[in-house]
Amino acid sequence: MTVTTTDPSDRANFSDFSLTGRVAVVTGGSRGIGAGIVDLLAERGAAVGFAFHQQEAPARALELSIRERGGRALAAQCDITDDAAVHEFFTRIAAELGTVDILVNSAGIARDVHVAFLDTARWDAVLTVNLRAAYTCVRAVVRGMLLRRWGRILNISSPSARMPLPGQTAYAASKAGLEGFTRALSRDLAPKGILVNAVSPGLIETDMLKSVTPEARSSLVSAVPLGRTGTAREVASMVAFLASDAASYITGQVIGVDGGLL
Ligand code: NDP
Repeated sequence: MTVTTTDPSDRANFSDFSLTGRVAVVTGGSRGIGAGIVDLLAERGAAVGFAFHQQEAPARALELSIRERGGRALAAQCDITDDAAVHEFFTRIAAELGTVDILVNSAGIARDVHVAFLDTARWDAVLTVNLRAAYTCVRAVVRGMLLRRWGRILNISSPSARMPLPGQTAYAASKAGLEGFTRALSRDLAPKGILVNAVSPGLIETDMLKSVTPEARSSLVSAVPLGRTGTAREVASMVAFLASDAASYITGQVIGVDGGLL
């Protein structure tokens, strides 16, 4: 039997991991995993717009460092829980960098506490940043992607979606929701050439990990088959691959970058 395909990716150069000519947006780009993603996408040739919330200084330093290396970067303040601010942010990115090809929803917060002490404000904050804002940002870019029949959406999830620690009811709910959102969105958008995946980092050296006690940290690390924490750069490698033409047959997946957690 001869199998034929009309997939345009047949014409793609599968060895090409380059993002030259693409416009990417990363939320939570000021620090940690998001900053690692911004840096690598820019290094691969994308023009990168990224949002910071409260930490302007590291965002400006990253923007400058990319520009000094000849890349294109634009950092802008945006509280992703504020719909009007999100609209304004994406309007500015489109005007200054161009139509968005790649969206990475990396901004996230954890407010772990036993459910008995989990008030509604804390629940809402976690669900709004980690889940609702991903939807808002998708809405801001999806029409442009649909019109051009090309796009990549990457959502940064967590192993807590499947195996939460105590105190993570809100965080686990937000990340499990994000993974369901990823799968459902991939179904809606696959016919139009827009690929949607989640990346699930394990224990990564960022400010988020600093909130864990040394005892909890060594017990968490001992459960990692590779026996160590990971780096933002290691997560960024997977994101950059999924954003490239080389990943043209991958959608609706949750891919762990976690040192082998099952
Ligand atoms: P960090 O705490 O280092 O950084 C969080 C980022 O989110 C910052 O850039 C922050 O901006 C931004 N942010 C928070 N709230 C808002 C908001 N309302 N509007 C806009 N931006 C906001 O987090 P990590 O780098 O560790 O985590 C990145 C992602 O990876 C998160 O989704 C997290 O859940 C996930 N993850 C992390 C793991 C880890 O081990 N670190 C493990 C598994 C998943 P600003 O600094 O400007 O305030």
